[in-house]
This record gives sequence, C-alpha cells and structure tokens, in this order.
Amino acid sequence: MSDLPRPLDLASAAFVDRHIGPRADEVQTMLAAVGHDSLDSLMDAAIPPAIRAERPLNLPAPVSEARAGAELRELAAANQVAEAMIGLGYHGTITPAVIRRNVLEDPAWYTAYTPYQPEISQGRLEALLNFQTVVGDLTGLPTANASLLDEGTAAAEAMTLVRRANRKATGPFVVDQDALPQTIAVVRTRAEAMGIEVVVADLDEGLPAGPVSGLLVQYPAASGRIRDPRPLIEAAHAQGGLAVVAADLLALTLLESPGAMGADVVVGSSQRFGVPLFYGGPHAGFMSVGQGLERHLPGRLVGVSVDAEGRPAYRLALQTREQHIRRDKATSNICTAQVLLAVVAAMYAVYHGPEGLRAIARRAHAHAATIADSLTRAGIEVEHAEFFDTLSVRVPGRAAEIVASARTLGLHLRLVDADRVGISTSETTTGETVRAVLQAFGLEAAGDDTAPDERLPENLRRQTPYLTHEVFSTHRSETQMLRYLRRLSARDYALDRGMIPLGSCTMKLNATSEMEPISLPGFADLHPFAPAEDAAGYHALVADLEGWLAEVTGYDEVSVQPNAGSQGELAGLLAIRGFHEANREEGAPTRDVCLIPSSAHGTNAASAVMAGMRVVVVKAREDGSVDLDDLRAKCEQHAETLAAIMVTYPSTHGAYEDSISELCEVVHAHGGQVYVDGANLNALLGYARPGEFGGDVSHLNLHKTFCIPHGGGGPGVGPVAVRSHLAPFLPSHPAHPVPGRREGIGPISAAPYGSAGVLPISWAYVRMMGAEGLTRATAHAVLAANYVATRLEKYFPVLYRGHSGLVAHECILDLRPLTKETGVSAEDVAKRLVDYGFHAPTLSFPVAGTLMVEPTESEDLGEIDRFVEAMIAIRHEIDRVSAGEWSPEESPLRRAPHTAASLVGEWDRGYSRDLAVFPTGPDPDKYWPPVARIDQAYGDRNLVCSCPLPEAFAE
Ligand SMILES: *Cc1c(COP(=O)(O)O)cnc(C)c1O
Repeated sequence: MSDLPRPLDLASAAFVDRHIGPRADEVQTMLAAVGHDSLDSLMDAAIPPAIRAERPLNLPAPVSEARAGAELRELAAANQVAEAMIGLGYHGTITPAVIRRNVLEDPAWYTAYTPYQPEISQGRLEALLNFQTVVGDLTGLPTANASLLDEGTAAAEAMTLVRRANRKATGPFVVDQDALPQTIAVVRTRAEAMGIEVVVADLDEGLPAGPVSGLLVQYPAASGRIRDPRPLIEAAHAQGGLAVVAADLLALTLLESPGAMGADVVVGSSQRFGVPLFYGGPHAGFMSVGQGLERHLPGRLVGVSVDAEGRPAYRLALQTREQHIRRDKATSNICTAQVLLAVVAAMYAVYHGPEGLRAIARRAHAHAATIADSLTRAGIEVEHAEFFDTLSVRVPGRAAEIVASARTLGLHLRLVDADRVGISTSETTTGETVRAVLQAFGLEAAGDDTAPDERLPENLRRQTPYLTHEVFSTHRSETQMLRYLRRLSARDYALDRGMIPLGSCTMKLNATSEMEPISLPGFADLHPFAPAEDAAGYHALVADLEGWLAEVTGYDEVSVQPNAGSQGELAGLLAIRGFHEANREEGAPTRDVCLIPSSAHGTNAASAVMAGMRVVVVKAREDGSVDLDDLRAKCEQHAETLAAIMVTYPSTHGAYEDSISELCEVVHAHGGQVYVDGANLNALLGYARPGEFGGDVSHLNLHKTFCIPHGGGGPGVGPVAVRSHLAPFLPSHPAHPVPGRREGIGPISAAPYGSAGVLPISWAYVRMMGAEGLTRATAHAVLAANYVATRLEKYFPVLYRGHSGLVAHECILDLRPLTKETGVSAEDVAKRLVDYGFHAPTLSFPVAGTLMVEPTESEDLGEIDRFVEAMIAIRHEIDRVSAGEWSPEESPLRRAPHTAASLVGEWDRGYSRDLAVFPTGPDPDKYWPPVARIDQAYGDRNLVCSCPLPEAFAE
C-alpha cells in the first residue's frame, strides 16, 4: 500500500481515486494535523497489533468502471428473464419510467438517510405518509407502518405482535395451509426460536378447536382460492385470538378490505405496485393494525405534528422513532426497512390513482378468467371457480412437461406438484401472454380477448372506497408527476447536497456506476422462484460476493439472505443456537444467555430476544471499553448456560479496543460463542478480520461498508458470515435454487437471496476497488475521523479514544459539559447545523447528549473543513449563550433550523436575519429547510398517520 493516492489522470482515473475524496495534497494536510507522516504510520499506530491481519486481502485485481459495467451486463444477460407467472407474492409490474428515473435512479431519493432529523426529511416523510395511506385504505385498517422487510417477515412480526398485544391468550398460532409457502417457512423459523407453537391447518375444516393465540389467513390464497375470511376471523376472536390477514394490495382494489371484515392485522408486500421483481427483493413489506394496536406496531410509523411556526409537519411517531433503542423490550429488532421501495409503491398509487389501479387489477383478472375459460372448455380442471389472478390447474402427471413447454415459450409458470400447475396474471400480462399460456397446455388461442364476467365472489366484492385523498387524483400527467417528485426530493437533504456525517451509518459514496446495473432487465425482472438454470448470472454474482466477503472477514462461509443488519444478527444468533443444541449433552441445560455490552446497538438485544435468548448486560468501563472483570464475573455466573457475547468492533464508541482478543478468549473458555457485530467494518477492511481475531460469526451491513445506498431508511443487506463449525446452521430456504440449502434452520427472509436485486452494487464496489483500494479506503476513513477529532477537540471534548490515543472511523463529541453549563443541547447543535447546510451527526447514540461523527473516506478535505468550521462557529454561538448575550430559548441554536418564511414580516429576535440563515455569509446554494423545529410531543398526543386533509395546511 502506498502512502499517497496515485496521481490523478482525469481521463482514466482508477475508480478508487473517484471513491476516495481527498487528493494527495489534502491527505498530507490531514496527516500533518493528526501528527503522522503517512497513512501506514497512522494505521500502524491505530490498529492494535494483536488483531492486525498478517496478509493482505486476496481479491481479484480491480477493474475500471467501464469494465465492471461490461461484466455486470454479461452477468445480467446470463439470467433468462421470462414472463413471471409463478405468483406466490411476486408479480410482473411496470415501474412507470418517470418513477424509475426520478426515484429509484435518483440520488436525491436513494442517498438520503432514515428521517430521524425530520426538518430536513419532509419530502420522504410525505412520500411515506402516502405509502401508509395506500396501505391503510386498501387493507381497511387505519394505522400502517412505513414498511417492513418483506411479506414473510411481516407475517412473522404479526405473529409476535398478536402475542404481545394479547398476553392472556393461550393456544397455538394457526397458519393457513394455503398461505405462501415461504411465509409459512419464515413464520416457522421465528416461532421455533421463540418457543411459539405454530399449527399449519387446512382451513376448509374451519379453525382447529380450542384456544388460539392468533390466526393467519391468506387472501387470496397461494392457490388462487378466495376464501371468505369472516367466519375464520370470528372463530379466531371467539377462541381468544387475534386475526391476521395476509393480503395482496392489487386484489384489494376489487375485493373487500380485511379491515372491514374484522381483521386485527393485515400484512403483505407492495412489490406489485411498480417495484421490480429483483429476483426476490428488495420490496417493501407492509403491516396495518386496528385501533388499540398502534403501540405494538413494529418498524417506523410516520405521523403528522406541527412545527415551531404552527405549520403541519411530518416526523416519525411514537416509540417508532428509534424503536430498537428499547433494546430487549423493543417490539421488534427491525431498524433499516425498505423506504426507497415504499416510496416507489406509494408513487405508483399516486400516479395511477384509484381508477388506474382498479383498471390494472381488472385487466389482470380478465386475463386470468380468459385462461380459465379456455382451459375449462378444453376439459382441463381449474381448481377454484372464483379467483383474482391466480389459477391452480389440474393436469395429472403432466405438470412438469407443461411448465417446461411454457418455459420454451418465454413463460415461467409455477410447478405446484406433479399434477398441478399454477398460473398468475399481472400488469404485464397481454393477450399474447394468454395465447402462449394456452399453447403450453396444447390449446389453440382463445379467440378474442373480450373480458369474461368477473370471477370474484359476489359477497366479497369491494364496497368500501379507497385512495380518496386528493394526492391520489392530482398527479396524472407526467409533467405533474415529475414536478411532484422533484418538489418532494427538493425538501430533503441527501448525499447529493453535502456530507452526512452520521456515526455508525457510513454514509459514503454510492457510485453511479455501482447503481446503474440494478435496472438491467436481467437483474430487475427475474422472479425469485424462476428455475435455477435461468438465474445463472445471479448465482455467479452471489458466489463471487459471498466468496469475497468471506475473504475480507476471515470467515469460512457467508449467506447474503438476511435483508438488513438486524436480520443478519438474528441469523447469526440462530446459527449459534443451532450449534449449541446440536452439541448439548443429554440432560445439560440449554445455552441461552447472551451477553451484551451496555453500549451495544439496540438491535443486538432485540435480536437476542427474537433468537430465544436471555439478555445479560455487561458493564462498560470509564473509557467505554467492555469491563473485563464484569465480563469474567458474568461468564462464571452463567458458565453452564452461556450461549454467546455480541460485541461490536470497533465498538460503538468508535475506538479500537485492545481488549478484544482477551474478551474472545474469556467467552470461549466458558463455552460461549463470539458474535462480532460487523456494522463498523469500514474501520477494519484490509487491516483486520473478525473471523481471525476471535469471532465465530458476524453480520456485515452492505448498506454501510459496501456502498448500497441508505434509500431514506432501506433497502439494506445484512450478510451473515460464520466459521465452519456454524456453517450447517446458516439460513436455508424451501425454494432455494441450490438443493443442498433447502433444509436447515429455515429462512430468515422471504426470498432465498433476500434483497438480491441490490447485490450488484456491492459486487461492483469490490470489483472496482480491489484489495488495495478497499484497504486504502479504510485508512482514509480512519484519517478523516482522526482529523475531525483533532480539529474539534478544543471545542468539544472527544469522549473516547482507543489504541495509541486515536479514534477509529468515527468519534463522539461530548456536548454534556456545555449543556450543563449553558442549557444548549446536542439536539440544538444538530438543528443549528441545518442552517449551516449540514445533516446532523448521530444524535445521542451510543451516549445520550453527544454527537457521533463519521466522515467516511469519500468526503474531500474542503467538505470536511466546512463541517469543522461550522462546528467551531456553533461553539462560538454557545459561548455567547454562556456569556449571557442570549438565553438558550431565544438563541439561534434553540430556534434552529430557520426557514425562509421566518424571515418575512416582523423580526424581533436577539440576533440578525443574516446570522439566522447565512451564518457563514450569503450562499446562493443554501439548503432551506421547509419547516422549523418540529414539536415531537404534539404529534404523539394527536396521532395522525395518514395524509392530512389539505385544510390542515391552510394558513
Ligand atoms: C446499523 C447497525 C445495526 C443495524 O443494522 P440495520 O441494517 O439497520 O438493521 C446493528 N449494529 C450496529 C452497530 C449498527 O451500526
């Protein structure tokens, strides 16, 4: 590794020089400030020798952006895309081009962070409120969250919600045998870990007798049947349980809503609202709940409140702001969700409106009816006379042959079993598709496509209205739609405007050349249950990526199935659980104690509870490191039952601690496994491997270290990496393309490869960076953090330092002494930064009253200095409060952020308008927040979680 970046030849700069922000002279300036003369010397000092990797990474030599693009096009072309008629929760859909280009492919949307700072996130919050309104209206239940990870995990979350909300209930959770098979499998995986009894039942016989805690019924079912859910819902209630309906949003435009029929919870996927198939994900799962269940809702909920100037303003409501902060009391471990895809689905509904959606649904239904009629006329049995878009066709002994013949005609049908074929129509079905389907059955075309009668059950046709809010009827022309999208994204601060120095989030470059390939039809349009031979490109890409991730982490095997960090945690803990169970001696107690340091990310404790473990907290020492004496004591105390420790490295305090190797030894000596939370891998890549310095299992966050954009709160990918002894316990999937991975602990997400559609991003990153590039990126990230720490230390104490007095890739600025002295809080500083043109750092995590800054390797020195200078200027403002010039309440800090509207009319503040909005001088490119400080409490007292009526915005 050389100390200096290579000279930049602009015509053919290596990608690494585009990815890393600072130029050679800037690097020298930064090194000088931190007191090192080279990156090597800095990293030699920063990384504890005990964990330092002995050899460089062994990865393929890097290639140019152009070459990587060509290779990805080849991989995409190796996938055989066909008309996806397999159904099972994944359907053909058309992403309107205006939405594809201006949301899915627009950095203003995809590089935004989770809207924890609502004043600079009003655009995506409005889009998410639209999503909640779509889900709430169509499902008929008033409160919907702003997305879950997929339909399978949404169903599993519903199962645990039902038990939380209804603690007195006894009896099993009953699941419809005709639910989506992957949903049943995900529910079983979760239930098994938490000791919940699940009964999969044929609901033709009615609900099994005796008490039940809940029921899940699929509407319409996997086979296409449309069961009247009312008698089952009533039975579930009568037997002491709550009723969950898994529903299809498009079907609900024609079928009565489950909410109107008494359901307590509705779950599903919004994929077919314009989100590409992506070989299984990312797609936005959803959940809506009835009155009284709002506080049990997992995930995030957008609500309406008011700002300091009395305007309605959006923000995350209730405990869902950072739900996982409740740790082992959290309703769920979900943190990163599927915001970008929820925005796409919401905008699809905005663009089409209720009549457009109904027309799309009717067309799909009519095509299914045409197929059913033709088959029936030819004497072929269609199992259910009433259906929406899915047919189950009986062809004794001929199913495989028909599915194979359809494949040669460019169709993917569902092979249910030897005697049955499943056919699902969708928005992309045409008359030609119908003819090809019939041809696969050996039939002539059906003649013309006149829509036959509706085959929807008479008593279940939709009566209740939906999408009556004006947002669903005002953006019909493309011009209107384009401007609406632009108006919303212009309200938000994303990486396309400036630095987002959020600690523990790694908001680095999401390169365009990494993003482009995800829209290639070969990646975007493949059904997750397409035959394995038609997904060769994806399989090669996954094999490369899993291999590369194993190499950089020092583990033996990797699974990319978990579709968020939280899910990687659960997968890793389930592997530990499976390992201990397999090795438990007859009569020995179960190893179920999970040690978690007090500074851990909240998802850790929540995941441990979901894995059926008991959380025992290990103390931290004054310097933030794990207290090894307390660790030893806890290990002794739980020696018989110790399952694992979950430790983040470098710690959530942003420091490389020397004690990690000893910590691993102590836990191993007591029979426990070591889970290293790898969300901070940006501080290790190329320099240390968790699998070598003592970890048995880690998850990584590809949406942090490996360049998948945050999307405003998802998608993510949280691969789980294990040493070989845990490999047999990695996630499996009943429909996995690799037969050897079908049996096992079960699936952690609905699709075999989780969010497969965004894996090309991380693949491209590793391919273009190579071993040396990735290693250099780490050094630059550490340099940037130490530069910020050094420059700001005089103004704000840096809370923790590790080995050699250096920080890792982030640093915590302690505001508490200043708050105590002046009353100005860390939150005030975060909001004031908006006036200076910045997204705030991470606020009050992992230590309340602090700010955690992570500049990443991608920010150049100019931008880092702009941030440092803003922080220094803010410190001077705090000094003026301290000197008594302003009270904290009347200071520009507390009254931040300042809107353009606040400048007009009378000005009676104790500081000038200039200081309010141009604190560093006039700036034509200034970011103007659309709202002032938002009142969090007001919105929680007056909960509104769907689109407010326009009158609310009247002056
Ligand atoms: C981000 C993060 C997680 C959670 O990841 P998600 O993808 O949001 O579920 C877990 N642990 C740490 C240390 C993190 O920074």
